[in-house]
Amino acid sequence: MIPEIELACAAIMHRSHVVCLTGAGMSVESGIRPFRGPGGLWTEHGEPALDDYQQFVKDPRKYWQELLEPKGFIAELHNALRDARPHIGHLAMAEMERLGFVAFTITQNVDDLHRQAGSQRLAEIHGNYTLVRCLDCGRRVRSEDIDTGTLPPRCSRCGGLLKSDIVVFGEPIPEDVGRACIEEIDQADCLLMVGTSAYVYPAAGFPHHVKAHGGTVIEVGPHSTEISHECDIVVRGTAVEVLPRLLELMKERRSTTAVDG
Ligand SMILES: [Zn+2]
Repeated sequence: MIPEIELACAAIMHRSHVVCLTGAGMSVESGIRPFRGPGGLWTEHGEPALDDYQQFVKDPRKYWQELLEPKGFIAELHNALRDARPHIGHLAMAEMERLGFVAFTITQNVDDLHRQAGSQRLAEIHGNYTLVRCLDCGRRVRSEDIDTGTLPPRCSRCGGLLKSDIVVFGEPIPEDVGRACIEEIDQADCLLMVGTSAYVYPAAGFPHHVKAHGGTVIEVGPHSTEISHECDIVVRGTAVEVLPRLLELMKERRSTTAVDG
């Protein structure tokens, strides 16, 4: 029987527009706890309020005060984000992009680790914790570059309200990110899902869309998920265990093909 990782490698190499979709499981090995499931932040502390965005709109000043002086498990989360570094799985994924095996990466993580690893063609569907976004013109700047002397801070270009780039409950996905995802998923003939069960919309629609258009859906993760039975290929293992091996296989196959051809 051919190992699943060989099947995944062959599928990726025979497809022309491979899109990666990553979630919380991708970052666990960088020391960031997942939100849901065993050991999850929300499992332990309870789910956050579902009207976070309405709270922000109602009182942006209070939101900024809480953001600048986080307390309890939110402070713990901030520290974990600040200390996290990309692992060899992130680096392997970025190299897959550089070598042309992967066209685009969509992440549900806000931890900046794909950027730090070098992924260039990237959509951060739930935002990036290092950035602040203008709700009017959509411009993003690094958090440390804004003046928080007066709260809430305003956009230096248009005067609009600034908010952390992290997409909170009840907040629409930023237009540019949403558009990029739709374009990429429309073109995708292979979806490589790592560390996600694509439980939360819009990501939840991606595997079905790719499959409906004849594409291959691959899952990489240590445990069975709600989506596993719908995937064409399932590689059991963590991002650190699987992605570097997958990259090595791709490089081997490519050089063999080059010699044969
Ligand atoms: Zn603006």
